[in-house]
Amino acid sequence: MGFRAAASLIVLALVAACATNPVTGRRELSFMSEAQEISIGKESDPQIKQEMGIYNDPELQRYVSDIGQRMAKISERPNLPWTFQVVDVPAVNAFAVPGGFIYITRGIMPFLDNEAELAGVLGHEIGHVTARHSAQQYTRQITGGVGLLALQIFVPAARPFGDLAGQSLGVLFLRYGRDDELQADELGARYESTLGWDPAGVPAFLATLGRLDEAAGDRKGVPNWLSTHPEPLARVKDIQPTVARLKTGRTDFSTNREDFIRRIDGIVYGDNPEQGIVRGAAFLHPVLRFRLDFPEGWEIQNTPSQVAAKAPGADVFMVLRLVENPQGRNLQEIAVNSMRDAGFRAVEGAPARIDNLDAFIGVYQGQADNGATFGARAAHIAYDQKVYIVVGIAPSQLFRQADGAISASIRTFRSISAAEAENIRPSRVDLYVVRAGDTWASIAERGGGVIKPATLAVMNNSAPGTQPTPGTRVKIVVSG
Ligand SMILES: [Zn+2]
Repeated sequence: MGFRAAASLIVLALVAACATNPVTGRRELSFMSEAQEISIGKESDPQIKQEMGIYNDPELQRYVSDIGQRMAKISERPNLPWTFQVVDVPAVNAFAVPGGFIYITRGIMPFLDNEAELAGVLGHEIGHVTARHSAQQYTRQITGGVGLLALQIFVPAARPFGDLAGQSLGVLFLRYGRDDELQADELGARYESTLGWDPAGVPAFLATLGRLDEAAGDRKGVPNWLSTHPEPLARVKDIQPTVARLKTGRTDFSTNREDFIRRIDGIVYGDNPEQGIVRGAAFLHPVLRFRLDFPEGWEIQNTPSQVAAKAPGADVFMVLRLVENPQGRNLQEIAVNSMRDAGFRAVEGAPARIDNLDAFIGVYQGQADNGATFGARAAHIAYDQKVYIVVGIAPSQLFRQADGAISASIRTFRSISAAEAENIRPSRVDLYVVRAGDTWASIAERGGGVIKPATLAVMNNSAPGTQPTPGTRVKIVVSG
């Protein structure tokens, strides 16, 4: 709640004023000064890092940051406190926060085919900041009452539970209109071409996004670039005249493909075990050494602050969180207090043992702003100086029906051995030279079948259904 409240206060303190747009030079209504943009960025940055995690690869971070900084320096707003960070998220995405804070996901990296595409994505996000789209959009969403999405999910007063699954990753994915998107594409192409990268990197990656949309399936339910940057294929067409103009009379553009793919060789693909990993209906955490089995068929979302699962076709959720408990306080007290803070009152509860660990299992009731009531069953489990909170939440009329699956899932919590933990390894990107007779399907199979052939083709700048070219070096995904 702190995040949203603070952001609202900042906005309430603003006075609508006219500001000059740095890109167009036009005067326009703005609710935000540059200082306010910067302060919002500085306030959001730690929250984003906490929610998403920073990908642990200093060399890759430096590489991405260098490319971003070079473009920011030649942009219309070189003096913003620009930062470029790779967040540890498997979804394909990139986003900008007012003030010059740019984030690109680990998950987008394998789908970029060269450095010009990377520069194009970073340049596009820089463009949203320099043209003040992010500030305007932020103003619009805040004043429109949508606000930033709070990071706490337990608070029924803050928002209906129905939105929970779609929001757990969506810290502040701003939605832009098509005009803003085209302008950001144009700015991105211009920034990168000024520095010698091929501006065709922008439409090339948009084409990949379009194919990814068509080949979707592995990534459903995860907010991604497409949900905030719609219609990539229409944009491929829109940006072509700009690219043609920028390329006129020049033949010296680089894509730096070989260096780029060498740098993403070995990058984690899909879930990172350091943040826990989803295997079917199970969630395993090799660092914290536990396992929980969610009900079969539920859609699971893993973020650094929590794991959420949603029943198919119903607003029934389970959430796993943990709190530190170094003093070993009384479990029942922790349980009742934490649920009360989340807006639930205790109906019944009793001490229990789960996997030979001390636990307190209770049933609770809560009410949302709109008057809707919810039932919840929560287990608070003491394990390794922490309390693991496993909660199932359903609208009151569904609770009795859902409670069987929730109860059974809660009971599956267990510790895992060092040997089991050792065997949980991430899938990674690897490089492979295509041989005669290879197909995308055979190459996908070679890596252990962790990626669909269609997705592998898209990752290599190719349409699904095409054949890989013998002798070319391609990106593949190998199981851990
Ligand atoms: Zn955009």
